[in-house]
Amino acid sequence: MHAGTIRDDLNKGINSPVYTSTSFEFIDQEETVYPRYMNTPNEKAVAEKIASLEESESALVFSSGMAAISTVLFTFLGKGDHVVFQHGLYGGTSHFLDSELNRFGIEFSMAPSQSAEDIGACIKENTKLIYIETPSNPLLNITDIKAVARMGKDAGILTVIDNTFASPVNQQPCRHGIDVVVHSATKYMGGHSDILAGAVASSKELIRQVHETGLNFGGSLNAFTLYLLERSMKTLHIRVEKINENAMYLAIFLEAHPMVKHVNYPGLPGHPGHGIAKKQMSGFGGMLSFEVDRQDGISFQKRLKLIKPSMSLGGLETICSSPAHTSHRHLGPEGRRSEGISEELIRLSVGIEDVEDLRSDLEQAL
Ligand code: PLP
Repeated sequence: MHAGTIRDDLNKGINSPVYTSTSFEFIDQEETVYPRYMNTPNEKAVAEKIASLEESESALVFSSGMAAISTVLFTFLGKGDHVVFQHGLYGGTSHFLDSELNRFGIEFSMAPSQSAEDIGACIKENTKLIYIETPSNPLLNITDIKAVARMGKDAGILTVIDNTFASPVNQQPCRHGIDVVVHSATKYMGGHSDILAGAVASSKELIRQVHETGLNFGGSLNAFTLYLLERSMKTLHIRVEKINENAMYLAIFLEAHPMVKHVNYPGLPGHPGHGIAKKQMSGFGGMLSFEVDRQDGISFQKRLKLIKPSMSLGGLETICSSPAHTSHRHLGPEGRRSEGISEELIRLSVGIEDVEDLRSDLEQAL
């Protein structure tokens, strides 16, 4: 909560003052302050909070999760390099690598699953980077972070993780040896479904390199949004704790319901990644998915009264989506079948409401 907060020595205000200037006085000092250089006081305040949560040496804040992800990839990859991506990435990331990497001469492989063995089998002589995302979207598969980090260290390959789904409250990948952590701060960090932001956390040296590339790409965040992000991060812990609790309760309720075929939640003992999740997560997060039985996903969602079918995730309100009709629509029926994404699959982003209100809404819709 306190890390990075700017001291207001002039007026003794308790919050960080908001520095809106795009012009800062400069005569002969070392550093030019300019928002696109990601070095304004508000940028530094938020970055310090993120680094403190992620237990990393340093961090940077971006204008979106995709700005953070694309900047990281273009910082560490160049013509002739190869990168391994795990199976089951966020759709925007898959779209980015499908449409951008090859035209810059960067090769990539998609591992057939999220297992460390399958990821390792894709490593080639020119592999420079391994990119994972755990828990994955929308099936909540778990990747063994430590195993991937070790594999990267042994082979001298940089490891990057998208930690958005877990949030740094539930999972701190740097502790397990991952080199670079990226976030869509639009989700849990922002937490109120009203800002777009991204973040990168890593060592001082790697952040220095991301910063150098970042100021060329220009994906910096403005002072007002930085302030909102800093404000939100003060309640991140209590929001995520409540969300973890609600999600666990709903996962147990759904698993026992006769109109539900299957629930994907890493907190459930029957989840195939539960053992690894228990080792690398301190809470199991607010994302879960389930297959409704003897009804289709769209009509189920239409019957919900409190839970809104909406895009995005990580806000205060519980929302749902049908991956077959949203994030995975582009795959077509065959592609979705091979990924295990059915028409009946519903993804929930659990919020902070009274859990009995959520349970009774799901119950009446089922
Ligand atoms: N990573 C994950 C896991 C996401 O869910 C998203 C967005 O939904 C992103 C990255 C991209 O973030 P943004 O929309 O803030 O650019």
